[in-house]
Amino acid sequence: MHYTGTVYRNPYEPPSPLLEITQGCSHNKCKFCNMYSSVKYRPSPMDWIEEDIKEIASVYPETDRLQLLSADPFVLSFNRLNEICDLINKYLPNIEIMTMAARVDNIKDKSVEKLKILKDKGILELNLGAESGDDETLKSVKKGYGSKDIIEQCEKLDKAGIDYWLTFLNGIGGVELSKQHALNSAKIFSQANPTVVGTGGLVLFEGTGLLALYKRGKFHPLVEKELMHELLLFIENLDFDGRFITHHTVSMDLNNVNFKQNKEKIIKNLQKGIDNLDMGMLTKIRNNKRGL
Ligand code: SF4
Repeated sequence: MHYTGTVYRNPYEPPSPLLEITQGCSHNKCKFCNMYSSVKYRPSPMDWIEEDIKEIASVYPETDRLQLLSADPFVLSFNRLNEICDLINKYLPNIEIMTMAARVDNIKDKSVEKLKILKDKGILELNLGAESGDDETLKSVKKGYGSKDIIEQCEKLDKAGIDYWLTFLNGIGGVELSKQHALNSAKIFSQANPTVVGTGGLVLFEGTGLLALYKRGKFHPLVEKELMHELLLFIENLDFDGRFITHHTVSMDLNNVNFKQNKEKIIKNLQKGIDNLDMGMLTKIRNNKRGL
């Protein structure tokens, strides 16, 4: 198999073979991320992809699920993705669902009709690392798109019938943007129609722009309790009917559950954590993290 640099497997997806179709990240500029900084983006050569599909078929001939890599494989053109889907369906005839991470702007060059074709070939779910619905926060971390893009591109996915996850990255606006990051993310994520909302917490990793700003006194990160208050504000204002997942350092009892049915319990659970948890211990856990 060809795997280049960081290999990220979504821990909340059922186990499935991983097929690399791009290398690195087509954007590679987000100020909180160092995951693909050492890899130059490029589409994987088609002969590598075909070799790897054949290898998967020899080991898991019955597999009905595939996760496509790397950072944002949906950046490939419709024609390229279509060709890859055909190869996958040729060698793995039982495939029912292909999932992958995607940037919101990966969807822009694909019409609803083209998205429907990809869906019919098995691309049923995209994991959109939106990170925020607040324009100032998105701009401050160089995400490369705004809240209007999130709404417009998610609407296209809705029309095509492709499910999507949206991710809220707790803390990326620092102290100054915390409130608007929480409120506007809740507003935009509630306007969209995600099947899953995931939340993760900021860690200032080596080599990132935010760490450099922090060292120069120009980024003021939230302390643990403030991060939890920001998450609470986001949750209180979020309204959607789907699964809610959190990768916060505190493992909440109510993780990976339907949000609408459990919103009040999730809020109570988080408030209990804010009141009782050892913030020093949580900070230690966060500082030991080596990846998003
Ligand atoms: S967060 Fe995603 S889009 Fe941004 S640089 Fe990292 S991998 Fe690329």
